[in-house]
Amino acid sequence: MAKQKQFTAGVVSCSTMPITYDSSKCIGCNRCTYVCQVDILVPSKTKGEHPIVMYPGECYYCGACVMECPVEGAIKLRHPLMNKARFIPIIEPKEEDK
Ligand code: SF4
Ligand code: SF4
Repeated sequence: MAKQKQFTAGVVSCSTMPITYDSSKCIGCNRCTYVCQVDILVPSKTKGEHPIVMYPGECYYCGACVMECPVEGAIKLRHPLMNKARFIPIIEPKEEDK
């Protein structure tokens, strides 16, 4: 019989924290982990606890995890500052102001 190997991994540190969980609201259903297409959310090893954000720097802010969550406010997505920039139309000066 083949010998089983056990692998462990830790959370990769990053300057951004795109996903935050509210442990008082999260029911640990792990639905958010199933829909993340880049697999950065990993179920907690403790049943009922919120998942772990394993690779926060890989998040591309699609919002699928938040949309999938059945509990409002259990998971939050925080966009980086550059994603919050708003572009406003340039107001051309009037002829008499030139
Ligand atoms: S926002 Fe998208 S990429 Fe980021 S953790 Fe959620 S599902 Fe994954
Ligand atoms: S954040 Fe929402 S979808 Fe994710 S484990 Fe918690 S309750 Fe489930």
